Amino acid sequence: MTPLERALETVIADLPPEVRARHRFHFAEGWDETLFLALEDGRYWSGGAYLSADTEYDVANVAECMQDLMMEVLWIVWPECPAHDFGLHVDFEARRPVWRCKGGSHVVAPIGALHDAPS
Ligand SMILES: [Zn+2]
Repeated sequence: MTPLERALETVIADLPPEVRARHRFHFAEGWDETLFLALEDGRYWSGGAYLSADTEYDVANVAECMQDLMMEVLWIVWPECPAHDFGLHVDFEARRPVWRCKGGSHVVAPIGALHDAPS
């Protein structure tokens, strides 16, 4: 498994169970060695974040690509704060990639551990 594939596994763990059950994700090649996150039917969103294979921020980048794919292709707002009605965005705390709430500006969980976050 490549570092990107491991990062994808980490991000998939945070998806709602019904999305995980319904969809398969893979990396699709774009231009200039860029990679996009794609659905099982080949759909992907190229308008936002993209991946390059030599980044040290794999988990954060894959999480941002997953957010774009959810929002722009599946029209799912993901993830949302369990305490507020706000979406979460990718941030870093102590060099770890985390989900941060836009309202209240608190860290909800490390990326990959969202389902362990207290609600
Ligand atoms: Zn919140």
